[in-house]
Amino acid sequence: MIEKVGVVGGGLMGSGIAEVNARAGKDVIVVESSTDAVEAARQRLEGSLKRAESRGKIKSVDAVLARIRVVNDLTALADRDLVVEAIVEEERAKTELFRRLDEIVNSPDAILASNTSSIPIMKLAVVTQRPTHVLGVHFFNPVPVLKLVELVPSLMTDPATTERARAFVQDDLGKTAIDCQDRAGFVVNALLIPFILSAIRMLESGFATAEDIDHGLVLGAAHPQGPLALADLIGLDTVKAIADSLYDEFKEPLYTAPPLLNRMVDAGLLGRKTGRGFYTSN
Ligand code: NAD
Repeated sequence: MIEKVGVVGGGLMGSGIAEVNARAGKDVIVVESSTDAVEAARQRLEGSLKRAESRGKIKSVDAVLARIRVVNDLTALADRDLVVEAIVEEERAKTELFRRLDEIVNSPDAILASNTSSIPIMKLAVVTQRPTHVLGVHFFNPVPVLKLVELVPSLMTDPATTERARAFVQDDLGKTAIDCQDRAGFVVNALLIPFILSAIRMLESGFATAEDIDHGLVLGAAHPQGPLALADLIGLDTVKAIADSLYDEFKEPLYTAPPLLNRMVDAGLLGRKTGRGFYTSN
């Protein structure tokens, strides 16, 4: 049974992962990198739980918060059954963290999971003495809302580890798991990103306006939002970073970032987070 969960990184994804675990009754410890970041993570968690309470999704913010400790000491994770890493998307930072987690987490049965979107799970597994117990558990943003989790075993993951992780995300967290190989983009981003890139190429070539491309997909294909509005929501820097990692892995032209995307990222036109991308917000 997985009852004691650790989350490393309390940013956008880590705080969401901590929230869904605490809402499922788990004992959760979140580790952040500084006292300021600990405070920011606490506030992020509290804000999200208050929104959940106001929508009637949870009964009491305090009851959920009581199951979450946010600290800046990695050794607090020694007794965890599962640790989910959700720190910055940098290979060196993640390999160093996995090396330390391997030393700190006591139980040989404990699972070390990564929420990485693009770093091969194998690179994290091989720095540990327990590659059989390392896998990718890839949540989607916003974690409390989106139901999907991609399970990504490396070539060295014990199938029993994947099955324990599947039972945990499905039975305990109420998510739906799909299986993916340890390849850039997994399933969702490998399909979604080239779709967004095609829409950007269509706009760039003057084939159609941003509004018409998005209306086309919303009204003609029942997408909840068009690809350019979605790119603004994800962040154009993130879209470019995922495209670059897909291109690095597969060397397929469909994964190349179009010049318009590159120039917008150079200019800091990153979408919603900077107020301007394909659309202007506010
Ligand atoms: P974020 O920048 O919001 O959060 C990262 C957090 O990690 C920060 O709060 C930072 O202080 C903390 N941190 C950095 N180094 C640390 C360390 N050594 N120890 C403890 N904490 C540390 O980033 P995010 O969007 O939450 O992404 C986190 C991970 O999730 C990345 O691997 C990313 O690829 C993946 N991911 C992101 C999304 C998304 O939509 N943003 C979706 C799926 C997966």
